[in-house]
Amino acid sequence: MKRLADLTFDNSFSRLPAGMHARVRPTPLQGAHLASLSPAAAALLELSPDSLREQEAVAALSGSQLLPGMDPIAMCYAGHQFGHYVPQLGDGRALVLGEVLTAGGARWELQLKGGGLTPFSRDGDGRAVLRSTIREYLCSEAMHGLGIPTTRALCLFGSDEEVYRERIERGALLVRMAPSHVRFGSFEVFYHRQQYRELQQLADYVIDHDFPDLRDCERPYLALLREVVGRTARLMAQWQLAGFAHGVMNTDNMSILGLTLDYGPFGFIDAYDPGFVCNHSDHRGRYAFDQQPSVGLWNLTCLAQALLPLLDADDADASVEQARDALADYEPAFAASYVSGMRAKLGLREAHPDDPALAASLLDLMAVSGVDYTNLFRDLAALCLDEAASATPLRDRFIDRPAFDAWADDYRARLRAEGSGDATRAAVMRSVNPRYVLRNYLAQQAIERAEQGDYSEVDCLLDLLSRPFEEQPERQGYAAEPPDWGRRLEVSCSS
Ligand code: AMP
Ligand code: MG
Repeated sequence: MKRLADLTFDNSFSRLPAGMHARVRPTPLQGAHLASLSPAAAALLELSPDSLREQEAVAALSGSQLLPGMDPIAMCYAGHQFGHYVPQLGDGRALVLGEVLTAGGARWELQLKGGGLTPFSRDGDGRAVLRSTIREYLCSEAMHGLGIPTTRALCLFGSDEEVYRERIERGALLVRMAPSHVRFGSFEVFYHRQQYRELQQLADYVIDHDFPDLRDCERPYLALLREVVGRTARLMAQWQLAGFAHGVMNTDNMSILGLTLDYGPFGFIDAYDPGFVCNHSDHRGRYAFDQQPSVGLWNLTCLAQALLPLLDADDADASVEQARDALADYEPAFAASYVSGMRAKLGLREAHPDDPALAASLLDLMAVSGVDYTNLFRDLAALCLDEAASATPLRDRFIDRPAFDAWADDYRARLRAEGSGDATRAAVMRSVNPRYVLRNYLAQQAIERAEQGDYSEVDCLLDLLSRPFEEQPERQGYAAEPPDWGRRLEVSCSS
């Protein structure tokens, strides 16, 4: 296990032509103190977690000092925000310090989120507040705990700096990690400016660094698009299965690697409501929970458009045809992932054509009664094949109990048909249906304590959510549905 200064740093993105990024020094965060760190993320860097507490590491990661090999840059990108193209966004408050090259051969970009002004800051102050930083820190590690692809979070710093939002808040800084932070919008910016040389350089960079196997394909750029289509489809399925709403699925928040990226006003569904809108500023529900799969495709269409000049340089019609073909894979890929994930959640081993309908009718009943999404699936593991339909306590969560009994009859029949055994099925179901998710009210409690200088609840949630499938009896309260105040929490983009 190494100390930060012993790591090897490089920054391959900074070697791409100027115009694709801007060199920028971080602005030191005044009075920065390490608030929390993720031992699991540190392990990915082969880094001793304790060494992050050393002064040298705090200075380097909170923007006061650069280590050899670091070459900080802000990335240039554009994006479709709420359906409208915004020609220049870029990292307005994030900067890539460099990549850590591990002995195991991995590359991890280290990004400071909240690291100060950049040429892309527009009217912003380049800072992030403690509240939103804690939410991103906890949720990225929690998503990883759930097995959902995501950027990771190494550590978070609090500070003495005052930051102005709707009220005065404390500045904070997140050290984020991913093999790459390239977004759909990173391609869009060069397409819409008709800078096709840069477009190609970016695509080559992404292929060489992140998808080297595609280099040998007959049509590497088409293969890249197909790969991103598949990854995004699978990611959307995983979000839907986990009851996760992202909240701001703008194309600048869509990762080219199919990672969950840029946590803002996200939310896990408590009482099941397919039209759940977690972003208080999303008045029209563009990014409602049940819209996410189709927004995923809409966003991929923007990416495909941006790649058109590379698909067939000589024949525009042929490019469009290839892009259409690649996009046509999205819906079947999403459906296949979602259905197999739902089967796993229901403890079904075999595939049956009626499975989608079985899952959909349960979800319909849950929606009518506002049943807690996470807890219902978790507790469904306890259902027994031999009990009377009306014996399961689960029925009391539904307003229309006979309707649930009828569903449970069908479900039991389906389980019997494949020779399902209660104990085995329960164990398998508990390995895919979490006991704990980052409910908004849990994050809120941790934030309120942290704003008083006490980060113990942040650490507690980090640990709890790193093992979300394990019953943690001493922390049983963390599986509780939200209290009344926690149902009405409003989370907006201002962060
Ligand atoms: P987000 O909503 O966090 O995905 O951010 C959208 C765009 O606004 C990105 O280009 C961000 O870098 C930029 N941005 C958000 N907050 C700030 C801030 N406080 N200062 C500068 N830029 C910001
Ligand atoms: Mg963003």
